[in-house]
Amino acid sequence: MILRDLKIPGSASSVLIIDLEAIKSNFKFLKKKAPKVEVGVSIKSNAYGLGAKTVAKLLSSIGCKTFFVSTIAEGMDLKDIIPNSRIVVLNGPDRDSSKMFIENSLTPVLNSLNQIDIWHKETIENPNNLSYLHVDTGMSRLGLSNKEINKLFSKDDLLKGLNIDVLMSHLACAEEGNSQKNLQQLEKLIAIKEKLLPLTGPVRTSLANSAGIFLGTDFHLDLVRTGAFIYGLNKKDSGEDSSKPVVRVFAKIIQVQEVDKPSTVGYGATHEITRPTRIATVATGYADGYIRSSGQISTKEEKNTAKVYFDNMSAPIIGRVSMDLLTIDVSQLPDHLVQPGGFAELIGDNYTIDDLANASGTIGYEILTRLGQRHYRVYLGGEGI
Ligand SMILES: *Cc1c(COP(=O)(O)O)cnc(C)c1O
Repeated sequence: MILRDLKIPGSASSVLIIDLEAIKSNFKFLKKKAPKVEVGVSIKSNAYGLGAKTVAKLLSSIGCKTFFVSTIAEGMDLKDIIPNSRIVVLNGPDRDSSKMFIENSLTPVLNSLNQIDIWHKETIENPNNLSYLHVDTGMSRLGLSNKEINKLFSKDDLLKGLNIDVLMSHLACAEEGNSQKNLQQLEKLIAIKEKLLPLTGPVRTSLANSAGIFLGTDFHLDLVRTGAFIYGLNKKDSGEDSSKPVVRVFAKIIQVQEVDKPSTVGYGATHEITRPTRIATVATGYADGYIRSSGQISTKEEKNTAKVYFDNMSAPIIGRVSMDLLTIDVSQLPDHLVQPGGFAELIGDNYTIDDLANASGTIGYEILTRLGQRHYRVYLGGEGI
C-alpha cells in the first residue's frame, strides 16, 4: 500500500491523498481529446475540495490559461497565484462587487440584463475589459433568457463597448449521451450566436463541461470548461475515456470488538446484531464529508450500505454514520487485516469516489467537495510548482 511510503505523522487519524500527477495527466488527456480548442478548467469550490491554489499553479505550469470560479472572493484569492491567466467568475458581478472585478483583473460572466447593466457602467471607464456572455439554452439557472436576448435588440446600445470574448451556455444532460436535449442546446447556442453577431461582433463560443467533451467534437466549439474529469470523476461506463483517479482517503482503525446478540449498532439502533459480529470503528464521519446516507439511516431500510476496504477485502458499513466515526462489519475478514492503529481504505483503487457516491445516493461531485479539512492532506507529485 502506498501509505507506507508516505511519511504520515502519528497524529493523523485520516489521510487524504491527492495525486497531482494524475490531475496533470487528466488535463493532458483532454487536450488530446479536444486538440483544436482551448481547455479551461473549473477550480470553483476550492477546486472541488482539492485545493484551488495548488491545482491552479499546477495546471498553469502545463499551459492552462483560463480558470473558472463561482464567486468573486474565490477569484480574488487566486489572482496572485496565477497572474498570467484569465480568471472567469461564473456568478458574475453585482452592485457591490463590480468595481472589484476591475481592481483584481477578473473576468465576469454576464448572466442577465441586470448584470449587463451593472457591467456597462463599470466599463464606460474601462473599455478594455473582456467579459463572457452567458445565454440560457435549457438550464433555467443562469444566463439570459430568450426574452432578455430579444430585449438586447430593442435597445441596441446595451452591449456596446462590452468587449465580449466568449458566448457561453451550459448543458443540462451532458452525462446522458443519448439525450435529445444536448443537440437542442448546441443548436440553440449557435443560432443565438448568429443572431447576436451584429451586436457582439465575432466571439468565441463555449458549451461543454467534462461530460460534454465526450459528446463529440461538435460540442467543443472554441473553449471547453472541464472540472470533474480533471479531478478523477467519471460518468458511467467511460471505457477508454476514463480519467485517472486523483483522490484516496484512508482512516485509522480505532477499535475492533466482538459483539453478539441481543445488541444494536450506532445511533437510532438501526442495525440489529443477529449473529456474533466483529465490528471495526474507524476515524471518519459525516464531518469529514462521509455522507450520512452511506450508512443505515433507518431500521426498516434494506439498502446496501457503502463499503470500506481493508487491503483488498471489502466490508460493509453497519449502523448510521456518526459525525466522526464509522462502524464496519469485519466478521468475514482475517484478523490480521483489521488491527487497531491500521488504516482502512474509504476511497481508492478498490473503491472509487463514483462507487461511494452510488452507494450513498449522490454523485461524485458531492463526495469530493465535502471531504473537508480534517483529513491529513498529502499531495503526490507536482514538484517545482
Ligand atoms: C462547474 C461548471 C463546469 C465544469 O463542469 P464539470 O462537470 O465539473 O466538468 C463548466 N461550466 C460551468 C458553467 C460550471 O458551472
